[in-house]
Amino acid sequence: YPSVEPRPYRVSVFGAGYVGCVSSACLSKDGFAVVAVDPDRFKVEHLARGQAPIVEPGLDELLQSAHANDLLSATHSAVDAINDTEISFCCVGTPSLPDGTLNTNHVREVCEEIGKALRQKADFHIVVMRSTILPGTMEELVIPTLEKASGKIAGHDFGVAYYPEFLRESTAIADYYKPGAIVFGQYADDTRSIDALKDLVAHIGVTPHVIPMRSAEIVKYANNCWHAVKISFSNEIGNICKAKNIDSHVVMDVLCSDTRLNISRAYMKPGFAYGGSCLPKDLRALTALGRSMNVPTPVLDAARLANAVQIDHARSLIDAASHETIGFIGVTFKADTDDLRESPLLELVEGFLGKGKEVSIYDPHAARDASQGRNYLKHIAPLLHDSIKDVIARSEVIVVGNKYPGLKDAIETAGKLVTVIDLARIEIPENRNVIYHGLCW
Ligand code: NAD
Repeated sequence: YPSVEPRPYRVSVFGAGYVGCVSSACLSKDGFAVVAVDPDRFKVEHLARGQAPIVEPGLDELLQSAHANDLLSATHSAVDAINDTEISFCCVGTPSLPDGTLNTNHVREVCEEIGKALRQKADFHIVVMRSTILPGTMEELVIPTLEKASGKIAGHDFGVAYYPEFLRESTAIADYYKPGAIVFGQYADDTRSIDALKDLVAHIGVTPHVIPMRSAEIVKYANNCWHAVKISFSNEIGNICKAKNIDSHVVMDVLCSDTRLNISRAYMKPGFAYGGSCLPKDLRALTALGRSMNVPTPVLDAARLANAVQIDHARSLIDAASHETIGFIGVTFKADTDDLRESPLLELVEGFLGKGKEVSIYDPHAARDASQGRNYLKHIAPLLHDSIKDVIARSEVIVVGNKYPGLKDAIETAGKLVTVIDLARIEIPENRNVIYHGLCW
């Protein structure tokens, strides 16, 4: 592994999920010593060996290199991590509560742990929140919890800042080095924390926006909600194009090249519903916040409705093919991730269980998740198969959820009639062995 010039700051990363692992890997690639902290034994053991506990392209290589350069360690102990570092990143999960509002329990817990550890630390330490949190959470929850547990004053005895994360799973490392924007939320006149953050990202070459904390908190929501609106809009145009026999992707190419519209092709690809751990929950949290303040959110509500409609649309196409055996290729919410949270493909699969259909699935990332004994897949783990060919051999209808190498070839050479419902735009020409239905192309 190439050796890395060590940098002055050492960083604790609390929460070794998708955001924490990518932050840890990229910080250590850039020469910052990282201590990852998580209560999950599986994650700590993996990181301590320089192995990725999640699927993300390029992550394993960076973590192995960090391990070889002695820049990465992992622990369950907040006290050890805080003592060994100058800055802490908090990357814990902020899932939805059943009513759609934000569950900030992990944020509260991690702030209590960090606060207690700060109590016995003499040196200045900076606490940086990276989780997605609604406007006001830093000032109403994070800072008071840290102050109470530490007995110290934020912005004076220790630093605080909010630094939202904009990575996209499956391209997270590339996104880290080529971010659309870098945003720092400053607390009162705590410029020392902002200056430290500027040092951490200086080599990326993008000038950070330094804005008040509340503004930084809502920028993250506005960002994800805008993605959801764009996806819903482009899927809707796509569905109309399909019904009129128009190539929706040519339409989007033209639309996105129009400088007056000023939009990129990112998220403007007519196709299947959005999902994953961020867009649905962030849209829910912001609309719930609007409701709680009597502020209507019709555009955001429509994006949610449009997404449900797109799942129904795919379901109808599969129903119309009306066969007994259905094979799903890819069930994670997109390719190149093992994240199954709120996957619309999984929702689609679930709709066919217990309905007299025989369902089989190929998804190596989901299979890895099942083999680690996590909860998402208990109900469908028995449906997973090791090879695309197995699934095709068992199925009259193939639902393409994600692109996989060799899939097109396997369908075309199956030696039997296969109906393909394409949700991922692999585009197979119709022939005597293939009946093809694209979703909106
Ligand atoms: P995740 O669920 O994958 O990981 C969260 C981790 O935090 C888990 O490993 C959990 O064990 C750990 N944790 C919980 N309590 C802890 C504690 N007290 N101390 C240390 N670790 C603790 O979550 P994620 O997908 O990485 O998302 C984290 C945050 O970042 C969320 O707020 C999310 O909205 C936001 N975000 C996520 C993405 C994404 O693509 N996943 C992108 C941008 C922002």
